[in-house]
Amino acid sequence: MEKNPHIAIVPSPGMGHLIPLVEFAKKLKDNHDIGATFIIPNDGPLSKSQYVFLDALPNGLNYIVLPPVSFDDLPQDTQMETRISLMVTRSLDSLREVFKTLVVEKNMVALFIDLFGSDAFDVAIEYGVAPYVFFPSTAMALSLFLYLPKLDQMVSCEYRDLPEPVQIPGCIPVRGIDLLDPVQDRKNDAYKWVLHNAKRYMMAKGIVVNSFKELEGGALEALQKEEPGKPKVYPVGPLVQSGSSSDVEGSDCLKWLDGQPCGSVLYISFGSGGTLSSAQLNELAMGLELSEQRFIWVVRSPNDQPNATYFDSHGHKDPLGFLPKGFLERTKGTGFVVPSWAPQAQILSHSSTSGFLTHCGWNSILETVVHGVPVIAWPLYAEQKMNAVSLNEGMKIALRPTKGENGIVSRVEIARVVKGLLEGEEGKAIRSRMRDLKEAAANVLSKDGCSTKTLAEVASKLKNKD
Ligand code: UDP
Repeated sequence: MEKNPHIAIVPSPGMGHLIPLVEFAKKLKDNHDIGATFIIPNDGPLSKSQYVFLDALPNGLNYIVLPPVSFDDLPQDTQMETRISLMVTRSLDSLREVFKTLVVEKNMVALFIDLFGSDAFDVAIEYGVAPYVFFPSTAMALSLFLYLPKLDQMVSCEYRDLPEPVQIPGCIPVRGIDLLDPVQDRKNDAYKWVLHNAKRYMMAKGIVVNSFKELEGGALEALQKEEPGKPKVYPVGPLVQSGSSSDVEGSDCLKWLDGQPCGSVLYISFGSGGTLSSAQLNELAMGLELSEQRFIWVVRSPNDQPNATYFDSHGHKDPLGFLPKGFLERTKGTGFVVPSWAPQAQILSHSSTSGFLTHCGWNSILETVVHGVPVIAWPLYAEQKMNAVSLNEGMKIALRPTKGENGIVSRVEIARVVKGLLEGEEGKAIRSRMRDLKEAAANVLSKDGCSTKTLAEVASKLKNKD
């Protein structure tokens, strides 16, 4: 009897990639009996949150941590995208070793990589296993990736110096300055790696994207237009964290939420990697106080680099000591502060939660859409500025605070948007659009919904080794 089909998944580091990939693997297992092995490249020990998460994988899903690669030769200022790409490239030999065993023990049908892992395709192809991409970000970012080789040839200056916004196929026009961070400096290696990976996406048998039509109709339509050599794109979203967080850290805040009035609390989080400067952290605290609204805030130690905790979301220092003097006492009763990490999925699904101030990471956006919670968009790095433009100007489900000339969002501006979202007319309009999107998300995930059917199509392709 033939063994059940099995896939290998090589995720980029960071919870924001692991979470949707695990959800994808769980659905393939539960609905289509396809097992998965996560093969994890790294440059040192995984973070606590990653281990907690991986150790809770259900039967049929397992993981292997590859030997760490060395980055001793890289300059200090090497960008995240370069590190992630090199982590995969430098792990190819150990990936080969794992594949050698996997192809004997399992009925291997595909290798999935996410954003910057396309060099691993070479190993899959050597072993006759089909290469696929799981794109954990927006259809808009994917559309940019597939368009980038052309844009790169057409434009000679920096994209941020273009006089007109960039027209990514199927998307609202975006100013060059709002495109992904790694394309902001075309001479930097990070840009070269993005371009390299984007070109190699063409080798994939298919690209699975974590989005759905009602959220990103234009971009998906453009992506699904058939063109010679272009892999088929499968929208299977929204795939968001399911089940309760096994991380006890931060669960006190759920008890606190239970005691708050229905629809009264703003949740504030900058994802697994986001950090604010000391001046901005101070201003945010004062702005929340000024708004006189209830809040839960996941606080990290301040850092001038906006993605300072990307590779380790549990900060080592106690971040609460950095808050303005007396803030915790003055906001006791109306506010709850959580150091480093909170059970986000449970907070967003709680009836007391009424708004989400977010860094616009795509998982956070999908989670907020699934639970129908309106947004304040506060992008920090990676593709988050693009996401904020699309949330604010395209989908119209977010307010966006304006920075002052000093590059900082002032306390007055913060209080204005927070009140606007929780109490104002603009908040009401956003809330109503969010309700529609929440319903659309539930529909696409239902038994006969589009995303469920698309996932079945992917599963059948995998089983047929197509
Ligand atoms: N997350 C969480 N608790 C936190 C911070 C983040 O559970 O305190 C989860 C969040 O629910 C989401 C993921 O981590 O699923 C973050 O992904 P996202 O794409 O929003 O941002 P990234 O961390 O990749 O920037």
